Amino acid sequence: MRLFSSPQRRLIVMHATRSTFPLVEPRRLRAFAADRAVDYGTSVRARPVSPSRDAIAALERFHEPMPDAPCDARDVIALLDEVGSPATVASTGGRYFGFVIGGSLPAVTAASWLASTWDQNAAMRVMSPVAAELEDVVLGWIRELLGLPADCDGGLVTCATAANFTALTAARSALLARAGWNVEDDGLAGAPAVEMVVGEEVHASVQKALSLGGFGRRRVTVVEADEQGRMRAEKLPGLSERSIVCIQAGNVNTGAFDPATEICERAREAGAWVHVDGAFGLWAGISPKYRELTAGFEKADSWATDAHKWLNVSYDSGIVMVRDAMALRRAMTISAAYLMPGAMREPMHHVPEASRKARGVELWAALKSLGRSGLRDLVERTCALASRFAARIKDAGFEVLNDVVINQVLASFGTAEKTLEVIRRVQEDGTCWCGGTVWQGKTAMRISVSSWATSEEDIERSADAVIRLARQ
Ligand SMILES: *Cc1c(COP(=O)(O)O)cnc(C)c1O
Repeated sequence: MRLFSSPQRRLIVMHATRSTFPLVEPRRLRAFAADRAVDYGTSVRARPVSPSRDAIAALERFHEPMPDAPCDARDVIALLDEVGSPATVASTGGRYFGFVIGGSLPAVTAASWLASTWDQNAAMRVMSPVAAELEDVVLGWIRELLGLPADCDGGLVTCATAANFTALTAARSALLARAGWNVEDDGLAGAPAVEMVVGEEVHASVQKALSLGGFGRRRVTVVEADEQGRMRAEKLPGLSERSIVCIQAGNVNTGAFDPATEICERAREAGAWVHVDGAFGLWAGISPKYRELTAGFEKADSWATDAHKWLNVSYDSGIVMVRDAMALRRAMTISAAYLMPGAMREPMHHVPEASRKARGVELWAALKSLGRSGLRDLVERTCALASRFAARIKDAGFEVLNDVVINQVLASFGTAEKTLEVIRRVQEDGTCWCGGTVWQGKTAMRISVSSWATSEEDIERSADAVIRLARQ
């Protein structure tokens, strides 16, 4: 028989240990959480991709008044799993085709468990030698895999939006420094003007970077794009040593690539800077089958890409690379005193953040576990599966709006209303998940095959469901 109720017992434990926290047994707690995580991971393929209405309604249980007293950590994890897990979107399960969302490779998920236990601050080498060292390793590997210049430097950020912002800030720093203007110290007021050039189908994240960076969303020269969304190189305006041209490797809708070779040549002649938004598309170049698409992008000056999309690293994980390593450091350093040549690379002087998680760990786990051939296979398999999905849609008499060059498919089921209705039914049905987009004025369903976990069977089941719901 228990003498005290459990809240009383917890209070007694707290007093006895003079701790503000209830005593928990870490090994049992971690095993408890790990069990639940494993259960989630092994059941996620079988469950509907979208959470049920009931599961979403049950999230109300989180809305309690801020608790006055501590509670058992096991109860915290149990509640998180009971209420939280059913209300997740099963994007790691193999039949999620929304936005451009990858899964999480098994080695990545496992490495992230260990890394979160380490709880390392990756700001500086002295705070975590392993975080800094793995960051060096993955930046070197990525440079090589993407065919980028050997002396470019980079940083690990949250996402491609942050990578675009970081790169454009470095670009501006370099162009203004060449004009004798120190933008870090003297700011933008009175600085020589920098001209931004973007394609008509520029990703919204670049526009956000323009707004955050004080470039101004509207102060851009927009270059016409073709029917696949590729910038028309012949329509480029006159460039100068104060122009920054933003090009795309992989349009978020069509997967199309801007003609990088031509654009980079024009920019080089003028002394302009070329920035590449290659959130997922840059990774296509890993495969000899798709290398032609990414040809010329290595001639640019900076690159933004994601690891949490096609590379299947868990969230969040973006990468920025800059040819002029000093420009990146000058733009991102916390203090000019840190710009010592020859010193070891300190992560925090390459990104907007100071304290941050050790993103290099999961990235390393992904690249190490896949190897070159695994990466190639990931790219080639997902592209082949996207083509298969597109073929099923066309065979069923519906329209595919884009040339399926990599892993992106745009489908139309007739009028905008009809297409939106099919998207709604697909999301409700739960076999798979596809979102909507507007492509050059036409409402479309966007299907992005980006996960290592997607199998042929997943594609057949999903295509069956989409076609059945479109015919209803
Ligand atoms: C997804 C995407 C982005 C933004 O990526 P985040 O990681 O969400 O910031 C930028 N550009 C392109 C081409 C994308 O596909």
